[in-house]
Amino acid sequence: MTPEELRALIRTIPDFPEPGIQFRDITTLIGHQQGLKASVQHLAERAAAVGAEAIAGMEARGFIFGAAVAVQLGLGFLPVRKPGKLPIETIGVDYALEYGTDRLEIDPGAVGKGQKVVIVDDLIATGGTALAAAELLRMAGASVQNALFVIDLPDLGGAGKLRDAGIAVDCLMEFE
Ligand code: 5GP
Repeated sequence: MTPEELRALIRTIPDFPEPGIQFRDITTLIGHQQGLKASVQHLAERAAAVGAEAIAGMEARGFIFGAAVAVQLGLGFLPVRKPGKLPIETIGVDYALEYGTDRLEIDPGAVGKGQKVVIVDDLIATGGTALAAAELLRMAGASVQNALFVIDLPDLGGAGKLRDAGIAVDCLMEFE
């Protein structure tokens, strides 16, 4: 399936989780046999093209795509977690979300020094989540130069913010 065909599998929910927000729901994409497979295939091709040595994904929807991409490429997967989930001493950063604030944490020992880690998530909006993940991975020693998303919301400017931080952004589709 082409990215254009995959785009048709995204469901848009108005006023979720707040009035005025158009939530782009990937449930319908990942529930589709060819849709899930093709999304992962497209992301994996792009991760391989930039020389990924490990894949990092953000809880929770980044786990779905990120882990599948890692398996496809025979790489390890690094979970970037919500606070309090890892049973060890973590490093973490607080960040602003499109709606609210949150915190991400990782195992500081999970990354090899200079290891080329590619970030994978379902969607980039303001870029706050991905920037926080990149900052954390870099704190742990990773080289973070690429981030891949199924969906970009270009009006929210996230991709530009990542580029300013030295991270190239690639997405399968956009929604205004
Ligand atoms: P950002 O930090 O770039 O503003 O927001 C991106 C994060 O919020 C991603 O982890 C993504 O899962 C979630 N998110 C924000 N808006 C949406 C949306 O409309 N659809 C989906 N699927 N996720 C969203």
